[in-house]
Amino acid sequence: MKASIRYLSLLFCSLLGACDAQRASPAATGTARVDGTRIAAADQEPGSWMSHGRTYGEQRFSPLKNIDAQTVGKLGLAWTYKLDVDRATEATPIVVDGVMYVTGAYSIVSALDPVSGKELWKFDPKVPRDTDRQGCCDVANRGVAVWKGRVYVGAYDGRLIALDARSGQPVWEVDTVLDHQRSYTVTGAPRVIKDKVVIGNGGAEFGVRGYVTAYDAATGKQVWRFFTVPGDPSKPPENKAMEIALPTWKGDRWWKDGGGGGGTAWDSMAYDPALDLLYIGTGNASLWNRATRSPGGGDNLFVSSIVAIRPDTGDYVWHYQTTPADTWDYTATQHIVLADLQIADKPRKVLMQAPKNGFFYVIDRETGELISAQKFAPANWASSVDLKTGRPVETAVADWTKEPKLISPGPLGAHNWQPMSFNPQTGLVYIPMQEAAALYVPDAKQRFTGKGTWHMGTQPIAFPENDAKALQGIMDLHKGHLIAWDPVAQKEVWRQSYVTVWNGGTLSTAGNLVFQGTADGRFVAYSADKGEKLWETPANTGVMAGPISYSIDGEQYVSVAAGWGGAFPVILGGLSEPAKVRPEARVLTYKLGGTAALPTPKALPARQPEPPAFTPEPKKVARGRDLYNAHCGMCHGPNAIAGSVLPDLRYLSAEKHGIFAGILAGAYAQKGMPSFMDVLAAEDVDSIHHYLVKRAQDLQGELAVAADKIEPPRP
Ligand code: CA
Repeated sequence: MKASIRYLSLLFCSLLGACDAQRASPAATGTARVDGTRIAAADQEPGSWMSHGRTYGEQRFSPLKNIDAQTVGKLGLAWTYKLDVDRATEATPIVVDGVMYVTGAYSIVSALDPVSGKELWKFDPKVPRDTDRQGCCDVANRGVAVWKGRVYVGAYDGRLIALDARSGQPVWEVDTVLDHQRSYTVTGAPRVIKDKVVIGNGGAEFGVRGYVTAYDAATGKQVWRFFTVPGDPSKPPENKAMEIALPTWKGDRWWKDGGGGGGTAWDSMAYDPALDLLYIGTGNASLWNRATRSPGGGDNLFVSSIVAIRPDTGDYVWHYQTTPADTWDYTATQHIVLADLQIADKPRKVLMQAPKNGFFYVIDRETGELISAQKFAPANWASSVDLKTGRPVETAVADWTKEPKLISPGPLGAHNWQPMSFNPQTGLVYIPMQEAAALYVPDAKQRFTGKGTWHMGTQPIAFPENDAKALQGIMDLHKGHLIAWDPVAQKEVWRQSYVTVWNGGTLSTAGNLVFQGTADGRFVAYSADKGEKLWETPANTGVMAGPISYSIDGEQYVSVAAGWGGAFPVILGGLSEPAKVRPEARVLTYKLGGTAALPTPKALPARQPEPPAFTPEPKKVARGRDLYNAHCGMCHGPNAIAGSVLPDLRYLSAEKHGIFAGILAGAYAQKGMPSFMDVLAAEDVDSIHHYLVKRAQDLQGELAVAADKIEPPRP
């Protein structure tokens, strides 16, 4: 195997201390000998990126400065590496001991030479493709953790897998899913603390009970599990945390009809070794609609919260709930950053978060006390956060549980999973901020109807049909910005604005730089202090993930897992059209003077709608529209207008129209189109088909009008 030859040479290289100039780094061993002492001292080896946010405090700041505001103009591609699946690409690579470890969609792990991009090994956990329906937001994976010679990946289907760092061979595998009758997924990167691998999960749009679990890094044996919300309310609370949480839930609908209270910890964690506290961010409540979820009120702990736990035992220490009684999908799973700040002339050990709800929080990370909170984005659901009580002051528009309301932020959030970064030299936090208001429409009838079925207590998302102006109006509500935020003064210092939301995570560096990929297919560098654009390059795809920087033998690199997908282009489909990008999943790595070429973008397939020549029946169309938006629109776009990631069903080929019922019954299950026959009857499928034929014919009409407007070429 090419991989083992490579490792042997690296090993001899390191043993004999006689490597070629390019590989002379004594650390270039591929051994991934990472441990807590080494991560805690990450600043002693600024060339490595050993854990998800580089340090346990997750600042995503690189102390490297060969690439700086003066030299960044000479940045060019060092190499590219094609990831297998052109869908949600959200990973932060790890670079340590001479190897890069990165993941792509469906949790596929690649180990690469960080100098050349050459593949050393690849591990495909073979996530069954019909699990797509189990998650809300595409088959993403945000990266691996490394520890003592092993690489840990959470697979989309809920497994946690330990790999040998040199060979990529699995060492152990555990199933982290509590209950396979419910829709749990894993998309986040594990963190390793004190020889324990910690991982959470997603699923709160489908009715699950959230938790994080710690496994022994050596053996995979479960050490502890921390539930973020109560279980069956007819049973006594399991521990101190649940004794606090259970009285904040009313009735039992959230359990019986809701399928679980949510609060899934699907992304953020941070660790303070001095305080020995692990911080987790928890997700939205399930159902979203609090009137149906917990009639009679209650804060519903610990949804939308930051919770501090002991990493040895999983014991609760403190919590701060950013959105009590969440009813808007305001997760607090957004990136958590730890820093030491001077506030009111006092040094404070703080935790910072910019969750979906639009407020930037600065919290004392020892006690959980709220220090300050201010809006970093438009937010009409609350006027302010009361510093005495720590609670948001909800406005009159906040409650949509009785009638539809246009609320900002919407479920996409003022900030989603795309990581922010903190630069201790400028004192600024760089946040991929978004304006994305949404119309929340109550549906009190909604019940837990089974695995893989959306149920939030809201009506399905629907857009205007055959009204381009109205659709454009909704698109225009979506604005993306990069903002530099002063966490001490709690105010914006500079901003750069983009064509739409869903721009990339940020990296800031000691070279006075901020790097960010954009939804419209660029990778850009700004000066960290002033926000001046200093450099940009095409990426051939929308870029969402957080970049990293590392160095090998004195050469600094900047790298990003580029690729498009996730909630915005999948759930909101055609709303992502202003980005004008296609998904192309590829690791892009840059260095000063780099001359590698970016491969030509893949060609757009020439396609035409090919609906069968029958007249759709209006009754079936109306019924099919509702069924489509409830079951199909979450991936193929509301009202059958898809984003560029998953198929736009208005373009179905004549052949696929012919086997439509078979596709709904699972004919393409292993291509990522699961069966829906658990929730749809034959007549439902027929109605959906009538609706799609109607939409394809609508599109044919639009295309014909557009073609008429184009002047014929002159002879
Ligand atoms: Ca959610």
